[in-house]
Amino acid sequence: MSDSALDLLRRIFGHTGFRGEQAQIVEHVRAGGDALVLMPTGGGKSLCYQLPALLRAGCGIVVSPLIALMQDQVEGLRQLGVRAAFLNSTLDAADAAEVERQLLAGELDLLYVAPERLLTGRFLSLLERAHAGAGIALFAIDEAHCVSQWGHDFRPEYRQLTVLHERWPDVPRIALTATADAPTRREIVERLALEDARQFVSSFDRPNLRYRIMHKDGGGLRQLLDFLAGHRGESGIVYAFSRKRVEAVAEQLQAAGVRALPYHAGMDAAARAGNQRRFLQEDGVVMVATIAFGMGIDKPDVRFVAHVDLPKSIEGYYQETGRAGRDGEPAEAWLSYGLGDVVNLRQLIQQGEAGEERKRLELRKLDALLGYCETTQCRRQALLGWFGETHPGACGNCDNCLDPPRSWDGTEAARKALSCVYRTGQRFGAGHVIDVLRGVDSDKVRQWGHERLSTWGIGRDLDERQWRSVFRQLVAAGLLEADVEHHGALRLTASSGPVLRGERTLRFRSEPAPPPRGRKGRTG
Ligand code: ADP
Ligand code: ZN
Repeated sequence: MSDSALDLLRRIFGHTGFRGEQAQIVEHVRAGGDALVLMPTGGGKSLCYQLPALLRAGCGIVVSPLIALMQDQVEGLRQLGVRAAFLNSTLDAADAAEVERQLLAGELDLLYVAPERLLTGRFLSLLERAHAGAGIALFAIDEAHCVSQWGHDFRPEYRQLTVLHERWPDVPRIALTATADAPTRREIVERLALEDARQFVSSFDRPNLRYRIMHKDGGGLRQLLDFLAGHRGESGIVYAFSRKRVEAVAEQLQAAGVRALPYHAGMDAAARAGNQRRFLQEDGVVMVATIAFGMGIDKPDVRFVAHVDLPKSIEGYYQETGRAGRDGEPAEAWLSYGLGDVVNLRQLIQQGEAGEERKRLELRKLDALLGYCETTQCRRQALLGWFGETHPGACGNCDNCLDPPRSWDGTEAARKALSCVYRTGQRFGAGHVIDVLRGVDSDKVRQWGHERLSTWGIGRDLDERQWRSVFRQLVAAGLLEADVEHHGALRLTASSGPVLRGERTLRFRSEPAPPPRGRKGRTG
């Protein structure tokens, strides 16, 4: 490592030393090498291109898709005395012309630009002149996963960024992302022509985060309040599924004396910005938000992230929970979810605008998330495993490690549940099927003549809560699916057969109540 990089790190950025692989990355790019950097959010990606840009001749060009982030970064750099600027649609013609002039005059160290802007003929010819004149230090491609269709923020313009490599092969490129699953990584390498780039893969483990996941009781408010009681006076984020839920949960928390504020895209901009400011500046504000909140929020002392509804995918869960404990101090990632969440999310996906293939992909991701929620394995091991990283497990800092879940042989219960779904015509939700199983004599049961079915009352050995858990796990395991066209009516799937025929045994997480008589079993 050249002394000058460490000098700059200390003198300009005020840090004492490098973190993780930052030093190697900076050195590699400074020396002209291409790099692909996979580092979790908060890991310190920005320095990986900022320092080499300062160390090399010319201006570093940073492609970034998020205008708000761009402005924050440039603001921060200017305060440190770095000559940084951005070009995006928020600038008027005169300001943009001034930035262009500075670039050509060699008066810039870093220029942030939106991808659609970069790809214009005008900007490319500007780059041509800059390259011939003051020079281009490097190209940094931030949020590189935007090039991937598998990911959640696909940006078609990212696909055209190979033009940089084609036109200026001597300028090093560094692509950076916090999304590290294998399919995305492969796509980044292929789409950005980074086959020869050195890959720097950081661990995605966040050892200071404690993971906890539980089934929702009713709306989950009681459980949330219990959780928050352990975090009084601390800052945190509560994520909810929809704008309506955000409003409702924020009100309920306020009524319970919590300093909660709502945040979602449906609020007017001033109110939203005001709440965000309070969250950043005051202590102990709980932000109740949709996932519209959090991108680029750099608040180190967020002590918890709670999901009161199921997130959309494991990647989403990882990103959102990753906003807790950036300062490295203990923090909690808490989630409660119920069957209703699964139905809502499936509905959202199936009624969305996306094509069939995309929808299938989203549904598979949702299933993977459910599998993660239902697992009895170490959460950290399961989570990192999804990102292709091996962890020995037994982390001692997740619910499954701290309080190993009991599991029980659910083969027979599953058979009863599936055959009851079948006998009732695959047109009812879990509530009614459970009534039939438990032999409830309701009007609805009578109306359909379900008290005459062979499956009426065969499930009296489990109570309603236990049956709910069975159905949830059957859905999670893909043995039942909710029919969106018919208000979430449960249907058998291709995988149901072997269970019905007794060819497959199943173990269920017993939660929250103990398993039924005679079927107790402990697993580690
Ligand atoms: P990312 O882009 O990976 O999410 P950032 O580059 O925004 O992460 O860095 C996250 C935080 O870590 C910032 O507050 C940054 O100042 C800090 N940081 C980065 N590198 C170091 C370092 N070597 N020493 C101390 N703090 C660092
Ligand atoms: Zn664990």
